[in-house]
Amino acid sequence: VVISHGARRVVVVGADAAGMSAAHQALRTARARGTELAVTVLESGRDTSYSACGIPYWVAGDVAAEDDLVARTAGEHRAAGIDLRLGTTAVELDLTAREVATDAGDRVPFDDVVLATGAAPIVPDWALDPAGRPVPGVRAVKTLDDGRAWIDLLGVRDPAPRRAVVVGGGYIGLEMAEAFARRGLDTTIVTRGELMSSLDPDMGARLREHVVKSGVAVHCQDLVDGVVTGVDGAVRAVTAGGREIAADVVALGAGVRPQSELGAAAGLPLGRVGGYLPDPQQRVADGVWAAGDCIEPVTRTHGNRVFVPLGTHAVKQGRVAGTVLAGGDARFDGVIGTAVTRFVVGDVHVEVGRTGPTARQLAGLGVEVDSLVTESTTASGYMPEAAPIAVKVTAATAGPERGRLLAVQIVGGPGSAKRIDTAAAAIWFGATVADVTGMDLSYAPPFSPTWDPVQIACRRLADRL
Ligand SMILES: Cc1cc2nc3c(=O)[nH]c(=O)nc-3n(C[C@H](O)[C@H](O)[C@H](O)COP(=O)(O)OP(=O)(O)OC[C@H]3O[C@@H](n4cnc5c(N)ncnc54)[C@H](O)[C@@H]3O)c2cc1C
Repeated sequence: VVISHGARRVVVVGADAAGMSAAHQALRTARARGTELAVTVLESGRDTSYSACGIPYWVAGDVAAEDDLVARTAGEHRAAGIDLRLGTTAVELDLTAREVATDAGDRVPFDDVVLATGAAPIVPDWALDPAGRPVPGVRAVKTLDDGRAWIDLLGVRDPAPRRAVVVGGGYIGLEMAEAFARRGLDTTIVTRGELMSSLDPDMGARLREHVVKSGVAVHCQDLVDGVVTGVDGAVRAVTAGGREIAADVVALGAGVRPQSELGAAAGLPLGRVGGYLPDPQQRVADGVWAAGDCIEPVTRTHGNRVFVPLGTHAVKQGRVAGTVLAGGDARFDGVIGTAVTRFVVGDVHVEVGRTGPTARQLAGLGVEVDSLVTESTTASGYMPEAAPIAVKVTAATAGPERGRLLAVQIVGGPGSAKRIDTAAAAIWFGATVADVTGMDLSYAPPFSPTWDPVQIACRRLADRL
């Protein structure tokens, strides 16, 4: 890497989705503007630009090798001109001296610093032994190291594990349950509320019906509060509400929290769950930027801060930070919480899509709404591929926003989930349910009934309002 004297110095902390998007976008923007940047990226782990999202599918056996999950290797980043330092943890952010101190004892000076340190899985006390080490067989799902450990736990251990417990019924829990069940393990999900708390409970219950049909047990309204270990110290069971559930392995999917210690110690303000609070250009202080799972972005619809740690946001926020710090113009226009997942085990294939606030969040915001659920099919009813699909739509019922589409949730068979993007686009651009009713959406028998299921639901709600 040739760095000429006087190049603006950018330090990025964290070399995954948000950090590497910011680093490359900064270089692209600087090149387009004919300026020069020296970009250093500090990463505590040994992996960069990997798809955490693909780990459950790797564990399930759908993805053959971990290399398949790496979008860009360290070598490719370095070839692009980035000074990438793996195995290097940033331990202090000095906003006065404008330096980042590392665990290697270096002090790396910067003109701009991008905080892209992600989120850490929540590890309950019971998941650790008295010395603070993880109980063997109990593990989170976050990094490629976790993925490797899961492959080892399931494939190498003798006798092979037979029973799995998944703690948490969010999408990571659901995807890990899918992986365990597909590998033939007796699988139980234990979750505090209904499955998928990002859905309204009625839609979560629909999802649960499908999951239970596959043979995976779901214990709702239960809190895992302890672990039973054998003489070898490895997990044998978890306890929940006085009950024991046998387990040879336990996956932790009980949520994540922003890793914002660096900025917190430097005096940067944090939000309700401890995330950074950037402006629409991802700036948290002069020359300090934050992006990805370590922030609390605002919602596009209501402007309130939320914590929605998703890769789809991380890359966009990183891109905005990289563009702006290099002198370009960009803004992040908020989140509406669009997300999809699936659960495919044996004959069961259920997909989930959601966008917009939940009923509970809308109540918290004081928004008056009406909603309804429509049952339809993913293709014309006479086609062999037609599968059931339930679409819940929610619209505002009061004030100038009356009729405005606020949220859509989908639970259905193959071909259901990505229909959420139609709804997300409509919400993004402020459409009413009546607007969606008239949208020019596609139709042919293998793909949809004459009226698209999202459109049917909006039409019915528009008629009722
Ligand atoms: C199992 C799983 C499935 C997922 N599936 C989906 C999905 O289907 N769709 C979706 O949109 N999102 C999904 N996500 C979420 C997505 O992976 C994250 O939103 C995304 O990785 C966030 O990127 P990030 O760069 O902000 O943070 P991270 O990916 O967490 O990267 C942060 C990096 O910073 C490094 N770091 C932290 N602190 C320091 C420090 N002090 N010094 C140096 N380095 C540091 C970490 O080692 C890490 O590599 C999934 C996540 C998981 C775990």
